[in-house]
Amino acid sequence: MGYTHLFGPVSSRRLGRSLGVDLVAYKVCSFDCVYCEVGSTTNKTITRQDFFPPSEVEEELMRFFSGEPSLDYLTLSGSGEPTISLSLGRVISFIKTNFPAYPLAVLTNGSLLWDREVQQELLPADVVLPTLCTVDEETFQKIHRPAPGLTIKKIIGGLRNFRRIYSGEIWLEVFLIPGINMDRDHLSALGDEIRRIHPDRVQLNTLDRPGTEPWVRPASPQELQDAARSLGLPGAESIHPAATHGPRVRAPADPASAVVEMIQRRPCTVEDIVQATGLHRQEVGKLLRTLSRDPRLKTKREERGTFYSWVGD
Ligand code: SF4
Repeated sequence: MGYTHLFGPVSSRRLGRSLGVDLVAYKVCSFDCVYCEVGSTTNKTITRQDFFPPSEVEEELMRFFSGEPSLDYLTLSGSGEPTISLSLGRVISFIKTNFPAYPLAVLTNGSLLWDREVQQELLPADVVLPTLCTVDEETFQKIHRPAPGLTIKKIIGGLRNFRRIYSGEIWLEVFLIPGINMDRDHLSALGDEIRRIHPDRVQLNTLDRPGTEPWVRPASPQELQDAARSLGLPGAESIHPAATHGPRVRAPADPASAVVEMIQRRPCTVEDIVQATGLHRQEVGKLLRTLSRDPRLKTKREERGTFYSWVGD
C-alpha cells in the first residue's frame, strides 16, 4: 500500500535524507514564485483550510515509522505552503509525541508567520526554514506574485515576531535570481534586515531544477560568492547542487510507483532518483524508458542534466 501524503525519503540539499510530509493539495500556495519547481500556483490563497482529514497523515506516518527508518529529518513541505493547512499544529504535535527521536523541519515561504495561530503551532518544530529574498516591495511582487494582502513589510514583521518567541532554529533561505535581486545595494539592505531578524543560519539558494518561468537562470558559484559579500553576512552558506547524503537507502518494493511519486512532486534527474530511492542507475533508466510511453512523463534539459516530471493524474 503506497502513501498519498508522505514522499521520499528524498535527498534534500538542505536537510540530508528527509521524509516529506505534504499537508496541502496541489498546488495551493500564498505565492506563485517565478522560480517555483513545483509548478504554477492554481489556488493562490492565505485562507487557512484543511485539504483532507489529518488522521490520513497520522495513519501513513504510523505505517512508515513501523520500519524504524533512517532519516536526517522529517519535513513538512510538498505541493505548496504547509502553514496554509489547518492541520499544521495537530500534525506537528503528533510527530513530536510519537517520533521524538526524529528532528522535525518545516519548509515555509514565511508568508503567514505574522499569524499568531501559525506561530504557536510551529513552536514544537526543531527547525523552521523560511524564505526572504528582498526588502523591496516591487521586487517582492515580481519574484513571488503573492496573494492579495501580502506585503514584504508584513512578512518581515512576522519573521521578527516569530524569532522573538521561537526557541528552535531558524534557517533563512535567500533565493537569488540574477538580474532581479542581486545588485549590491539591494543585497546590502537585505543583509541589514537579516541581521535584525537574527536567524541561526542563512542559506543562499538558486535555481537547481526547472523553474516556473523560463527566463529565471541559476546564479553561478562566483555570483553566489559575490552576493554573500554584498549581504555582509560572513556565515552565509551557499546551497550546493543535490549531493549524496549518508548511506544508501533500501530500494522500494514498488519501484515504478516510487519514481512516479517522486517526479510528481518535483522534476528530478536520474541521479536524484538514484540517490533518493536506492535503485540502481540502470534500473532507473529502464523504468523511465517504460514510463515514457505515458504522455504524462515530461522531460526538460537543464544545465544539471535531463529532468523528468509527471504531469496530470
Ligand atoms: S517556491 Fe514555494 S512559496 Fe514559491 S510558489 Fe513554489 S511552493 Fe509556493
